[in-house]
Amino acid sequence: MDCDILVSGGGIAGLTAAAAFAGAGFRVVCVDPAPPVTDATAETADLRTTAFLQPARAFLDAAGLWDRLAPFAMPLEVMRIVDAGGPEAEPRVMRDFAASDLSDAPFGWNLPNWLLKRELSQRLSELADVDFRPGTGTVSLFTREGEARVGLSDGSRLRCRLVVAADGRGSPMRQAAGIGVRTTRFGQKALAFAVTHPIPHCNVSTEIHRTGGPFTLVPLPDRDGHPSSAVIWMEDGPKAQALHALEVPAFEAAMSERSCHLFGPLTLATRRTLWPIIAQEAERLSGQRLALVAEAAHVVPPIGAQGLNMSLRDLACLLDLATAAPGRLGDAAMLEAYERARSADVRARVAGITALNRISQVSAPAMQDLRAAGLDVLYGAKPVRTALMRLGLGTGS
Ligand SMILES: Cc1cc2nc3c(=O)[nH]c(=O)nc-3n(C[C@H](O)[C@H](O)[C@H](O)COP(=O)(O)OP(=O)(O)OC[C@H]3O[C@@H](n4cnc5c(N)ncnc54)[C@H](O)[C@@H]3O)c2cc1C
Repeated sequence: MDCDILVSGGGIAGLTAAAAFAGAGFRVVCVDPAPPVTDATAETADLRTTAFLQPARAFLDAAGLWDRLAPFAMPLEVMRIVDAGGPEAEPRVMRDFAASDLSDAPFGWNLPNWLLKRELSQRLSELADVDFRPGTGTVSLFTREGEARVGLSDGSRLRCRLVVAADGRGSPMRQAAGIGVRTTRFGQKALAFAVTHPIPHCNVSTEIHRTGGPFTLVPLPDRDGHPSSAVIWMEDGPKAQALHALEVPAFEAAMSERSCHLFGPLTLATRRTLWPIIAQEAERLSGQRLALVAEAAHVVPPIGAQGLNMSLRDLACLLDLATAAPGRLGDAAMLEAYERARSADVRARVAGITALNRISQVSAPAMQDLRAAGLDVLYGAKPVRTALMRLGLGTGS
């Protein structure tokens, strides 16, 4: 056997998987045809940020990652939901979900994706049991009961006990295993960029609903002496594309209006990147000697910071099963247990976020009024409010 685990994909999920499994004593090879871009100023840098929710911290800690991420992490103390669905772009209902209602800890911590890739790949270079091969991809998969044989783009072939497919929404390993997907298209795109603003964010993450999808500001550390936030602005595809093409002053005026001027005039601090929005679910989360994780298994619109946090739950589950019975790594019983443990949560979250996104997209005034009233009702009763917060964090059912 060439290694215990082959991780196909070196995105954030794949790099984290490689660090976690190698940290637990498994021999890991991780491949990705695209080397990680670890410089914020590079043309291809991923300028999105990831909000890691509370439960992610223990997993990152156990994988030896948290200490190196903590100095850059921005704590998120309050989740503010704003409905601005009236005729004017102004807040009608504004409700704060405070982490302090649950515990002393923040909801989570926000980190730039390019920085995560830098820190994760540095961690891999310290681990003796990881062979990270950027520039090489997986091209074929052949499995039998006792092993998987994976063909790589450099012409070599590798034998392992488990393939972890973290190779994204179009996952070549998922396709090679013949596992289908159910995809929902919303006709929507997300603009991702960073801004500075005169009014401080006070560690409050703010999600503003009007039409076309949410406009979300997530706290970042100060930039050039000014308060700063990462923005995800979801809109109908053609409108998002038009916004992307606007001259900077016109774009700044448009986003300041869309933010209801809650932070004063917004100044664009990075280039704008455009992301297609879909929801997707693999028909199964495993195949013979194969486990699907992260976007290879599930894709959700960026609402409530669920995407990568679901992925970490996939990894935590696989790691628990692997360490509980290392001799059975990748066998049918282990992969059935993975499927059983993860499929209900994945199905519920993909359905839940799909529904929330549709509610956020509505443009009919009556539906917008209903949305504002719904927010009030959900917020009004404290047990409902705290149950929802726990559900969002993944600590409640
Ligand atoms: C706008 C936006 C904002 C988001 N914000 C958040 C957030 O705040 N919190 C959160 O939890 N989630 C968030 N998400 C979701 C999160 O970004 C994704 O869940 C995460 O980036 C997906 O990671 P991944 O590693 O599965 O996929 P990718 O990042 O797509 O990585 C897949 C990797 O596989 C590689 N690959 C492709 N083909 C092969 C091959 N043949 N062999 C090997 N490797 C291959 C690719 O090169 C790539 O590096 C957001 C998503 C969007 C669109």
